[in-house]
Amino acid sequence: MAELSPQTDGCRIVVLSGPSGSGKSTIVNRLIEESPVRLMKAISATTRPKRAGEIDGDDYYFLSSEEFDAKRQAGEFLEYEEVHSSGYWYGTLQSELKRIGNLNAWSFLEIDVNGALRIKKLYPDALTIFLKASSEDVYEQRLRGRGTESEEVIQRRLNTVRNELKLASSYDYQVVNDHLDRAVAEIIDIISSREAQLHA
Ligand code: 5GP
Repeated sequence: MAELSPQTDGCRIVVLSGPSGSGKSTIVNRLIEESPVRLMKAISATTRPKRAGEIDGDDYYFLSSEEFDAKRQAGEFLEYEEVHSSGYWYGTLQSELKRIGNLNAWSFLEIDVNGALRIKKLYPDALTIFLKASSEDVYEQRLRGRGTESEEVIQRRLNTVRNELKLASSYDYQVVNDHLDRAVAEIIDIISSREAQLHA
């Protein structure tokens, strides 16, 4: 598969990361709907089982381990990770960025910290944004509030949260999700300013 060009394509990539419980998914949906710069979500591939309500090819490309490995060996991923020591793999497909680039939109990647740092290395012009909760307690409250995870998973995820927070300073921007509308507006401003720079 032909490589994307870091010079031309990297500047139209937004990477958003934030620990579990930072309120990412609501923000992502709002950004995609409201941003004046056209954003499209790069759909990741994963080996994790589909949750109720999720749609293959919309939320993720749900793959078997064998299918994921085949793509990995064929060099189809820009980055891939076993996220949260969950035993499940997640990866950004190069074909997604091409698909979105062809539609003249910006690629929006909602991926974990390691994946984000890898994308930034590949595409130094990619815009990286770290979404934080207003205080550390919020992560635990939100993780517990979901009521879907076992205590062991919660503890593992909280550990990951602490490690991820340590890497926040390596992002271009850190945004605090204290009020949804304000955080959405701040991220839209960041992206719009970058778009304006590209046209300057
Ligand atoms: P979930 O299983 O709750 O949908 O996602 C778990 C985590 O996987 C999230 O923190 C999300 O950011 C991360 N993730 C989703 N897709 C990718 C990907 O393609 N690459 C990487 N590195 N992380 C991903």
